[in-house]
This record gives sequence, C-alpha cells and structure tokens, in this order.
Amino acid sequence: MHARISTIVPHGAARNACYLHGGGQRGNERFIDTGIVIEYEGVLAICEGCVTHLAKLLGLLTPADVQALTDELREANDARVEQAQEIATLKSRNEALRTLLALDVDAFEAPPEPEPDDPIAKGLAVLEEIKAERHHEDNSEAAISREREMAEDA
Ligand SMILES: [Zn+2]
Repeated sequence: MHARISTIVPHGAARNACYLHGGGQRGNERFIDTGIVIEYEGVLAICEGCVTHLAKLLGLLTPADVQALTDELREANDARVEQAQEIATLKSRNEALRTLLALDVDAFEAPPEPEPDDPIAKGLAVLEEIKAERHHEDNSEAAISREREMAEDA
C-alpha cells in the first residue's frame, strides 16, 4: 500500500469523496490517498475526520491529545521542580534546627570568675547591693502608699 496524505480530495478518488462518510472536504481536514484502486470507482480515499474517529476507537492519540498530554506533563514537571526546591529549603532549615538542638550548652566556657581582690569586681558587688537595697526600699514605699490609699478609700 502506497498511501499518501493529500490536503484536498485526492484526484481520481472513488466517489470524489471520503469513501467512509461519503462526503467531500470539511474545513481544512486532510485526506489519506490509500493508493488502493477500487475497480470501476477509483482510488480509496479517507478523510482525516474518519481516520481520527477510527484512531480513537483503537485508543490512538491525535495531535490534540498529544498537545494536551504535553501541557499536562509540563505543568506536573513545573510543580515537581517547585516542590523539590521547597524540600531543599525545608531540609536546610531542619539541618539548622538540628544543629541548634544538638548544641552542648555545657561545652561553652563559663565566664571567668572575678578575682576576689579585683577592685572592679568589688565595686560591681557594692553596686549590686545598693541596687538590691533600693529595690527593697522602693517596694516598701510602694506598699506603704498603697496602704494609705486603701485607708483613705475606706
Ligand atoms: Zn470521512
């Protein structure tokens, strides 16, 4: 069989039409010129529409089906790439968290104890005592003023 594709109803086609549906060209559909000659009629020609119908019956793909599948595949691949990037980011963050959680706090050196005779350390200690006393006094004054307020309200 020496089939050819024709953009119009092939010259010498039997019935001068698609042999299956019996009609001429619909839109831009192509024809298959099968090269098979039907005695007293002419060449067996089949239009693209009828071939497509037969192909779908057999589960074959049309160019439109292939394009739809290509688009679907591209979208799926884009989503996969995006997810892979997200996973990489999450892995990186997870690794950082693991590092933080695994830190041995005791491994850090404690700040050196001040020398007992260090004048700065002594000064700081005195400052801390003064602060503590003031804090205590502030609290006492606040308590006294609150008591006064309560007594005045009563
Ligand atoms: Zn046809």
